[in-house]
Amino acid sequence: MVVKLELRNVTKSYGKTKVINDLSISIEAGEFFVVLGPSGTGKSTLLKLIVGIEQPDSGKILIDGKDVTRLPPNKRNLAMVFQNYALYPNMTVYQNIAFPLKMHRIRNIPEKVRSIADKLNIGEILSKKVTQISGGQQQRVALARAIVRNPTLFLLDEPLSNLDARVRYSARGELKKLQQDLHQTFVFVTHDQKEAEALGDRVGVLHQGTFEQISSYNDLYNDPKTPWIGDFVGDYPMNFVGSKGFRPEWVELGQGEYKLEIDSSENVGGIYFIHGKTDDGESLILKADRRYKIGEQIRFSISKFKQFEASV
Ligand code: ADP
Repeated sequence: MVVKLELRNVTKSYGKTKVINDLSISIEAGEFFVVLGPSGTGKSTLLKLIVGIEQPDSGKILIDGKDVTRLPPNKRNLAMVFQNYALYPNMTVYQNIAFPLKMHRIRNIPEKVRSIADKLNIGEILSKKVTQISGGQQQRVALARAIVRNPTLFLLDEPLSNLDARVRYSARGELKKLQQDLHQTFVFVTHDQKEAEALGDRVGVLHQGTFEQISSYNDLYNDPKTPWIGDFVGDYPMNFVGSKGFRPEWVELGQGEYKLEIDSSENVGGIYFIHGKTDDGESLILKADRRYKIGEQIRFSISKFKQFEASV
């Protein structure tokens, strides 16, 4: 595969805080790469470094093998879509999409705008002001404005997080399809695990300034490299007993070597999750097929686990 974007030993500090710390990554052409991490871990900073809004203190950034570390953003041929879309509020949808083409004095602007607008299902609203359209439509306009210039690398900073749940779900599917149609490289930043799971060919989990693990979401969940990843990834944190890590569903209830005293039961779509403590005071969450009473003691065995090096 052709490497589209490469970061080599990139470091960036704000004052005394090292936000990005000796980070290296190769992202392949056509890959949908998701950067996942809790807020404040440097995801936006990482994108700003790739775009060129910020400069690294040390390290290199290469696009298509070319060192762009010191190039200004407009010389990097990439497109950025922001969380708040950054649309021009006084312009129509058409004018917003056409804007980058005008800036670069590109010809056949009406045809280009029309074709992109049709692709993104916003052909009917081209004459509306962007303040008069829904959040989902604004998100498409932002995407259309990014695509219209034909960039070779797309950087998306939480572009779906302002949408309500239903729209977000369908926008996710559309975005994945769009990326596949365009055959372009997408770097997508999010703190939302469901997005990472649905979109990422690979997911890089950012922690303490660098990628703690880069793999499929499935591997993050089933085969976390560190206890921190096990804890962070998943609807529920991984359980730990000594150096064994196990997911809520990796147990058999009823008999076995461990004992749990129930604190609470939670029903999520017909599945129960029981919260409780072991004799050693470890808090655990286990999947169950019925509700248990508070204070009830149950035995269980661990049917599958991930062995970590040291006790957690
Ligand atoms: P994320 O996108 O993961 O939420 P950010 O990249 O926005 O994280 O921020 C990472 C850390 O860097 C935060 O602690 C933030 O306060 C700090 N930071 C970001 N931008 C600046 C800046 N321009 N000046 C000083 N500190 C900053």
